[in-house]
Amino acid sequence: MSDKYDVVVIGSGPAGYVAAIRAAQLGLKTACIEKWKDKNGKGVNGGTCLNVGCIPSKALLDSSHKFHDAHKAFEGHGISTGGVTIDVPAMLERKNKVVKQMSGGIGGLFQANKVTSLYGTGKLLAGRKVEYVDNDGNKSVLEAENVILASGSVPVNIPVAPVDNNIIVDSTGALEFTEVPKRLGVIGAGVIGLELGSVWNRLGSEVVLLEAMDNFLAIMDQQIAKETQKIFKKQGLDIRLSCRVTGTEVKGEEVEVTYTDKDGNEQKQTFDKLIVCVGRRPFTEGLLSGDSGVNLDERGFIYVNDLCSTNAPGVWAVGDVVRGPMLAHKGSEEGVMVAERIAGQKTLVNYDIIPNVIYTHPEVASVGKTEEQVKADGVPYNVGTFPFLAIGRAVAADEQDGMVKMIAHAETDRILGCHIVGPSASDLVQQVAIAMEFGSTAEDIGMTVFGHPTFSEAVKEAALAANGHAIHMP
Ligand code: FAD
Repeated sequence: MSDKYDVVVIGSGPAGYVAAIRAAQLGLKTACIEKWKDKNGKGVNGGTCLNVGCIPSKALLDSSHKFHDAHKAFEGHGISTGGVTIDVPAMLERKNKVVKQMSGGIGGLFQANKVTSLYGTGKLLAGRKVEYVDNDGNKSVLEAENVILASGSVPVNIPVAPVDNNIIVDSTGALEFTEVPKRLGVIGAGVIGLELGSVWNRLGSEVVLLEAMDNFLAIMDQQIAKETQKIFKKQGLDIRLSCRVTGTEVKGEEVEVTYTDKDGNEQKQTFDKLIVCVGRRPFTEGLLSGDSGVNLDERGFIYVNDLCSTNAPGVWAVGDVVRGPMLAHKGSEEGVMVAERIAGQKTLVNYDIIPNVIYTHPEVASVGKTEEQVKADGVPYNVGTFPFLAIGRAVAADEQDGMVKMIAHAETDRILGCHIVGPSASDLVQQVAIAMEFGSTAEDIGMTVFGHPTFSEAVKEAALAANGHAIHMP
């Protein structure tokens, strides 16, 4: 094996592995280095997303949703299921199988596309050289025309709640509980906290989410956030805003959490498990030699321009380790852009149209600007909203919670944003993302024929409502 490559990628999460595949597809000799190991010490690809993020969390969300349906929701359909029980170890086993299948799939894709897959640690040296230490400790230096850094992110730890991987866990530990905790605390009611809180809530945990911010889902459209909060409250998620955790004390098999509530009063609450979900930070430990020429910004992200180029010539960085939303699909698109740029193409990522989803039930999804943002930008706009309660398919499926909100420019009618809480919101919002990519107006969507009865009709009706003439507006 020659040690000279056109492209060396460090990190095989959704940003790195996609960059490697695309580069190889374009005829570039490519290697991808990955240091993740499974429980048996074997190298695995896929990064956070496949191993401890998107995929395992969705596997558990799906299992817990099925349990919830069988336990509570089927009755209304006249289906009796008898005594429904949950076997948590079996549920985890299934999740692990899903993860194995997906990360193994990357190995297959690497092979098919002739990407050299290297397990071990990569470190960028000066002059586009990469020090590679394999999992047996053997060191070599790879030379590359281009290096793509895709080292991802890790959970933020807070001193007031140190993770002990037993009673106090981070998002990774919350995917591994072997039994349903009776009382579950979650610090942080963001996307990951809500998803993991939902999993265990559906399986029977009493879940309390302690959130320091005054507004629920503060960066989301606030009308949709409020609607979502109401739905989650109905489901039994106890979301406490303006609550700042000041300390934790593990006492045997439980933890006492101290926090100040919205009135500034000190409160104490005891939980059987506590998940710390206060965000993620870029991971660059051991990645860069002192003379690599790559700069970090003040928050520790690798500094890049809009094209994901770092300060060092021929060195690029993509995914969670650079600015922008920490989302798998954002990283993958950056990976494609960089690979194609290296091959001489002029690809760009449209950072204005990146869908964002919370995979609770119902799902919450958005694309484009919120009403708060367009208002702050001084842009004239129209809003159309439409509730799932008035959508036949949603009522038939007993999925009538939630709504679609469409925001369009008041003069050009171009769609500025769409925000949804409701059934299949992740797929519905994608329809609007495609429309926005093509510069569509709300009227364009309103004039499109939608199949009946579908959840999608709520998107059409919201678009019509933005122009003042929804048909089925109650
Ligand atoms: P990562 O996936 O973090 O991969 C980086 C890889 O680089 C890792 O495998 C790491 O081992 C490797 N690495 C680091 N340094 C080195 C080195 N020096 N040498 C070799 N290898 C190295 N996003 C979504 O879009 N949708 C979701 O539904 C979603 N759900 C999530 C649920 C949870 C519980 C969590 C924690 C995250 C979720 N995310 C989701 C976020 C998503 O996982 C990340 O945005 C995504 O994984 C980032 O991809 P990445 O390739 O930049 O980094």
